[in-house]
Amino acid sequence: MSNKKKVFIKTYGCQMNEYDSEKLLLDLEKNHYQQTGDIQEADMVLLNTCNIREKAAEKVYSELGRVKKIKDHKTDLKIGVTGCVAQAESLEIFDRQPAVDFIVGPQSYHKFPEIISKVNDGEKNIIETNFEALDKFQSIASLAVKPKPSAFVTIQEGCDKFCTFCVVPYTRGKEVSRSHKDILREIIESAKKGVKEVILLGQNVNSYNFEGISFPSLIYSLAEIDDIKRIRFMTSHPRDMTDELIRAFGNISKLMPFLHLPVQSGSNRILKSMNRGHIVEEYVEIINKLRVIRKDICFSSDFIVGYPGETEKDFQETIDLCEQVQFAQAYSFNYSSRPGTPASRKEELDEDVKKRRLHVLQDLLTKQQTTFLERQKNRQHNVLFEKIGRGINEYVGRTEHFSPVTVVSKENIVGDIRRVEINAVMSHSLRGVLK
Ligand code: SF4
Repeated sequence: MSNKKKVFIKTYGCQMNEYDSEKLLLDLEKNHYQQTGDIQEADMVLLNTCNIREKAAEKVYSELGRVKKIKDHKTDLKIGVTGCVAQAESLEIFDRQPAVDFIVGPQSYHKFPEIISKVNDGEKNIIETNFEALDKFQSIASLAVKPKPSAFVTIQEGCDKFCTFCVVPYTRGKEVSRSHKDILREIIESAKKGVKEVILLGQNVNSYNFEGISFPSLIYSLAEIDDIKRIRFMTSHPRDMTDELIRAFGNISKLMPFLHLPVQSGSNRILKSMNRGHIVEEYVEIINKLRVIRKDICFSSDFIVGYPGETEKDFQETIDLCEQVQFAQAYSFNYSSRPGTPASRKEELDEDVKKRRLHVLQDLLTKQQTTFLERQKNRQHNVLFEKIGRGINEYVGRTEHFSPVTVVSKENIVGDIRRVEINAVMSHSLRGVLK
């Protein structure tokens, strides 16, 4: 029987957190933990949290309440909170849920092995939330990733943009780029282990600049790694979409024709109030330039509905922008005030108004997504298969446009890039047959 302890990890929020959870798990595995999907049998529960929206942070406190109940009859259970809620609300977490043993902010993950030892020694109330992003990068560079066809690689942390609604500049610190050499080393190592696609991550990934090496230069150098067949990145800021980066989409076939480019609102008045640092016309110009350079490119975005001061006219301008761009997919949320942000001092709109507008926008975005997926029917795509599906002999992969596709295959095709003809459209995904 294995004498390993078991850790249950729950990840909230963005891909940066998914990636961080993988890295934290590697540290735990080195310290004789193994992952379990069953919280009841866990010796440690780790909540890797997201603070981007009020609801996300509140969900963490509700989950902590549930975990506390398990700890009530399993007193040696260790509870840890990592991620942005850990960073932003460290002491408040201990206040609201004293059963928590340790709290680690994203900038202190390099100290995680040390923290695990302290936790194993029975230490309680451990807090590590210092800002030392470079140290963190130095530490994660030495970790190996688990072999899988598509891998996240953090290349940039933090944000200097200070959008008025956002906590990231306060929780993740200023923009810091990871060493170009370390990124290359990690990706070359990953490629040897079977990684075919890298998704470069950063809060403002396209602000990447390490000692004069720009983001497009980094992408050009990654494209030269033979075994890496696909490159993607997220999340980008319109302000950092340089012409050089736009040209890279025309020059690098490995750079996939899908771009997640948050705009948040279609109203220049609201963009100004949000301190986004760009106007709608600039956003549309980027989209148009990319469509000229890369005919098959498609777009995804983020929208905040009901930002303080948003009028019916402002909201209509958001709708107009969506009609103009035609997004392949998008994320939209009602504005929720985050404590400490400049927007939190503004008067909020009526909840019913927000709800109604969100409903209208989501309706439109869903229609656009369905139209986009419907257009793929009878077309062929190159699909990178990432995992086994739920049904018998099913495999799930993604097209060049990041759309999930399921096929049936007698042979294991995980890790293969195969030609697939799309023959059916589900609500958010596609089905196809291997050619
Ligand atoms: S660009 Fe704005 S929304 Fe994005 S992380 Fe920075 S402050 Fe937040």
